[in-house]
Amino acid sequence: MNKIIITIDGYSSCGKSTLAKQIAKELNYVFIDSGAMYRAITLFFIRNQVDLTSVTSIEAALNQIELSFAYNAEKGTSDMILNGENVEVPIREMAVSNQVSQIAALKEVREFSVAQQQLNGQKKGIVMDGRDIGTVVFPQAELKIFLTADPEVRVERRYKELQSKNSAVTKEEIKANLEMRDYQDTHRDISPLRKAEDAVLLDNSHLNMEDQLQLVLGWVNDKIKKAS
Ligand code: C5P
Repeated sequence: MNKIIITIDGYSSCGKSTLAKQIAKELNYVFIDSGAMYRAITLFFIRNQVDLTSVTSIEAALNQIELSFAYNAEKGTSDMILNGENVEVPIREMAVSNQVSQIAALKEVREFSVAQQQLNGQKKGIVMDGRDIGTVVFPQAELKIFLTADPEVRVERRYKELQSKNSAVTKEEIKANLEMRDYQDTHRDISPLRKAEDAVLLDNSHLNMEDQLQLVLGWVNDKIKKAS
């Protein structure tokens, strides 16, 4: 059976990674969380106090970054590895969330990330989620999904997720962070977040995860048949 490329883009905390992981598991495809890559780069920039106004400093920093994913058997998903260190926990913390959209807007950072993401798709059989995957990284993808959900639903979901990780973050902080990232992601000059013309719009505010998965698997199977 032919393998396809599936892209999932959308606003922050709409459940893109959750859906992408489920689809990848069902199809035995590779799942790549492109946001984790921008988060790992941000963590490196924060730790090394990279001067964001200097292209030379940004390029020198990127030259020192090696990103990879390592399968975590306990979770059944992959963890982000930055220069050999498993950074899955620190990249999800608020310090990174508050700076990632600013750093992800930098031209050099995007070029560095997109090049690596495209290498991962060469053999197809991949599900990648992010903000510019259907528009820039894989414009030729067979199935593109643009995910959205009501803002209150997104805040609630993120709050529950962080609480389950014992985070003391408040709902107000989460709301402010999501609004800020969505604004920055949709207003940046280079590859802003937008729905690709040929993407399917999916509002999952009132859909449970199982119904959402079955709906999307229907779309996936149609596309696989067409690609065969
Ligand atoms: O997906 P996640 O919310 O973890 O992504 C973190 C941030 O990384 C986003 O808010 C956005 O600024 C950036 N990002 C991006 N392009 C992508 C994926 C993420 O600019 N393809």
